[in-house]
Amino acid sequence: VKESGRSSHRYYDAAMDKKSYGNLSLERDLRKALEREQLLLMYQPQFELATGRIAGVEALVRWRHHEHGLISPAEFIPIAEDSRLIIPIGEWILYTACKQNKAWQDAGLPAVQVSVNLSIHQFQSNGIIETVSCVLKRTGLEAQYLELEITESIAMQDVEKVILTLQGLSELGVKISIDDFGTGYSSLSYLKNFPIHRLKVDKSFLDDMIENPKERAIVGAIIVMSHSLNLSVTAEGVETMEQVKLLSELNCDDVQGYIFSRPLSPEDCASRLVENVSY
Ligand code: C2E
Ligand code: CA
Ligand code: CA
Ligand code: CA
Repeated sequence: VKESGRSSHRYYDAAMDKKSYGNLSLERDLRKALEREQLLLMYQPQFELATGRIAGVEALVRWRHHEHGLISPAEFIPIAEDSRLIIPIGEWILYTACKQNKAWQDAGLPAVQVSVNLSIHQFQSNGIIETVSCVLKRTGLEAQYLELEITESIAMQDVEKVILTLQGLSELGVKISIDDFGTGYSSLSYLKNFPIHRLKVDKSFLDDMIENPKERAIVGAIIVMSHSLNLSVTAEGVETMEQVKLLSELNCDDVQGYIFSRPLSPEDCASRLVENVSY
């Protein structure tokens, strides 16, 4: 695996521009973003540590605003959530990611999983199971090639309902992963009750791992615990070879981060997939 040459994107910073262009106008524009075809998805590869192969790609949404240029999802996803726009936007993201993955497979590229972030509102909305099932049917993507990322905050919701939803999704054959693991306030007890397949260890744990033996112990313990619960572990936000080496010693399954690849356009991602050797 080699470093991608892409330069980082410069985002419009809404906080710097609140007076002239507040959240309300952003919300108004976001309402139109779908029909104006201003949303796009980038794909960041996730690499299997043992083989160096791409095991999956995470779909990450971008908004190309007509005046402000590229707006970060950290900026507009919260606005989408507050305004319920996240439902149609989330559905577009799910559909587009599945359609793209199917197109790659149809083009003869090695099959990988696509991971899609589900916001909590989306997850809780009635009909999420039907939506996912419908998207799989419409795109023709097999369920095993879709992974849904949800955050620990779902563990703080109505647990019975969460389990029913997760079971429904699992029965479709899609995989579920817990995103930003370790940053929430939930207890760990949900890990034994929820039908999930993977934990994604948050970047904040990896940042200090090299200097701080405590952070390293936490990451090691998460990996050991996950494996004994039959879960895979992805480390995210990996930026240095030192981290890769350490994660490999700790038996981490997959890594995602700038060290191997930034989020890529569909075209660049396809070129990366072409090089993906199977074992
Ligand atoms: P996330 O799901 O934790 O996604 C990982 C974020 O870390 C992405 O930022 C990615 O570009 C960034 N990243 C990956 N590797 C590295 C690295 O090595 N170093 C650093 N510094 N950063 C790295 P991005 O794309 O700006 O997304 C930010 C957040 O916005 C995501 O965090 C996710 O919570 C949300 N988001 C993005 N796309 C979607 C989406 O389609 N739907 C929903 N509901 N949320 C999304
Ligand atoms: Ca994610
Ligand atoms: Ca994450
Ligand atoms: Ca995050």
